[in-house]
Amino acid sequence: MEKGLIVVVSGPAGSGKGTVNKHLIETGDYVFSVSATTRSPRPGEVDGVNYHFLTKKEFRNRRWHKGFLENARYSGNFYGTPKKEALEVIESGKNLLLEIEVKGAMKIKKAYPDAVLIMLLPPSYEVQEARLRGRGTETEENILKRLKTAKKEVHQVRKYDYVVYNEDGGDLQCAKDIETIIRAEKMATERDTDIVKNFFEKKK
Ligand code: 5GP
Repeated sequence: MEKGLIVVVSGPAGSGKGTVNKHLIETGDYVFSVSATTRSPRPGEVDGVNYHFLTKKEFRNRRWHKGFLENARYSGNFYGTPKKEALEVIESGKNLLLEIEVKGAMKIKKAYPDAVLIMLLPPSYEVQEARLRGRGTETEENILKRLKTAKKEVHQVRKYDYVVYNEDGGDLQCAKDIETIIRAEKMATERDTDIVKNFFEKKK
């Protein structure tokens, strides 16, 4: 059976990556990788669904036992992609969807050059700022901090394979764009080194 791909979707705050990824999961072809983190749950977040919430000691222990595909520190907390679950998904033929930040994405690319890295961006910085302020749930200090981080992330976009822009109300279109990218990637000749052999040897 054809293996699934590792699909990394990174996006700064205000890119809408959570909603876009939800659409992808609904197609049934993508399985979301539930990360481990040492940060505290936000209201509404469920352990085992949004994240596996671990203590620092538990996280270090798992890292020591090579339990992560990648891990990184972000805003003072640790985040990691559980390895065993991830490899099971790929073997099952489904695509593994990683919603992770830039440093983690680079580690994935190095360890798994076949992974497809996609950066989701708001249409412009102005829109991004408006979206973050529009939430109305955060302090000015927090907004400025998130914008600063987001700016740094946008500057890393050339390290990604693709960029997808999320226009207002365009979540579904972004998910479709990502599906198109992955369909094309699966047809890339360099992914299948046995094309000629299979063509001549395959019966019917
Ligand atoms: P948040 O705390 O807002 O949920 O996530 C902060 C950042 O960490 C986001 O950019 C999110 O995509 C990223 N993140 C979530 N899980 C992982 C992970 O397993 N590994 C890495 N490297 N980043 C992650």
